[in-house]
Amino acid sequence: MNKYYNLALNRAQLPRLTLSQRVIDKIVANALTYPTETGENLVGLAVNIPGRIEPDMYVLDTIAPDDSAVRRGAYFEQGDDVQGEIFNWYADNWEEFRERRRHSYGNAIGAKWDVPLANVGDWHKHPGTLTHPSGGDFETAYQHVFDDKEGEPQILVILATVWDRAYANADESVDPETLIGITEHTKEIDKPRPLKIPITDDTLVRIDFWYMSRKTRRFVRLAPIVTEDSLLPNLPPVSWHVTNQDRLRKELESLTEDGYKVLRLQGFNADNVPPLEICLQVLRMTGKYVYTIVTKATYPAERPVIRYAPIESIPDNTPHIFAPIWAQSQPVPEDCYPTDPWQPDSLMVDLLRMVEVKLKQKLVEKAPAK
Ligand SMILES: [Zn+2]
Repeated sequence: MNKYYNLALNRAQLPRLTLSQRVIDKIVANALTYPTETGENLVGLAVNIPGRIEPDMYVLDTIAPDDSAVRRGAYFEQGDDVQGEIFNWYADNWEEFRERRRHSYGNAIGAKWDVPLANVGDWHKHPGTLTHPSGGDFETAYQHVFDDKEGEPQILVILATVWDRAYANADESVDPETLIGITEHTKEIDKPRPLKIPITDDTLVRIDFWYMSRKTRRFVRLAPIVTEDSLLPNLPPVSWHVTNQDRLRKELESLTEDGYKVLRLQGFNADNVPPLEICLQVLRMTGKYVYTIVTKATYPAERPVIRYAPIESIPDNTPHIFAPIWAQSQPVPEDCYPTDPWQPDSLMVDLLRMVEVKLKQKLVEKAPAK
């Protein structure tokens, strides 16, 4: 056996795996309701540590597969991959946050998390007492790990099984022998290290933590550390334009019906505080201004803010119109907004229409008389 292989299978050289309590809670809750073989993506970080062969792995949250209710409303160029959209939302915010932290700390604690957010693997539910990855799981993981273009050099596969508590301990003694590549030598490191979470007097959920990398070349078990959510970096709530696509569709349709053209929908750090804002840039074909409607991730809880820029600020011959328009925009004065408080069932088109009328009056008044 080559030396490197031995090294990779030394427990001290396996990755340290840390999961937030939130992740465990979601796995347990979903394992009890999901059909087998459905699961969720794991969002987290793979942090390379000097002197260690494998990265430290952190799992911060999970992303559920496309829910048909959400999927139904899918719109815009992001397509219908809601899971992908949610990941992109997290990743965009993460990058923004990394950038801010780099300026504000510049110390070891800030630097520790200064790595890209990643899809670190998945968890899924197995039927019965199958606590091992299946042949299919192996194939998928192996291909992923050795895929230079799309894959990552390592992957977590977390398996949840629902047990009758009376049998929950029986499986462990026979465990290691069923895996390829296990020898007398590796027995200790291949000992099962599951979490067992009691649900009722009769039922428990067992969670097994598996890992494969280019160096292990097979699944190895990891012993997890579960930690308070607050001790790990936080991901922001998912924005309304992803979670509430029916609303998005309604907003876009009503803008179009009213004669506005929607140029752009973009996540943007408009107020310097995470999470990102969702901005819509719209204009009337006959108008003088292009408007940027700035909504918070929690829209429609709060009224959008509207900015306006001259129509000439739209650059020609480039799809990258957002930033130039933004750079030349200014906020609509506060007294151009309706005096009635914002209602969450109000649409942005109604707000924009009213603001547009008042803004026009104001700009005419201000213009020097000829
Ligand atoms: Zn499986």
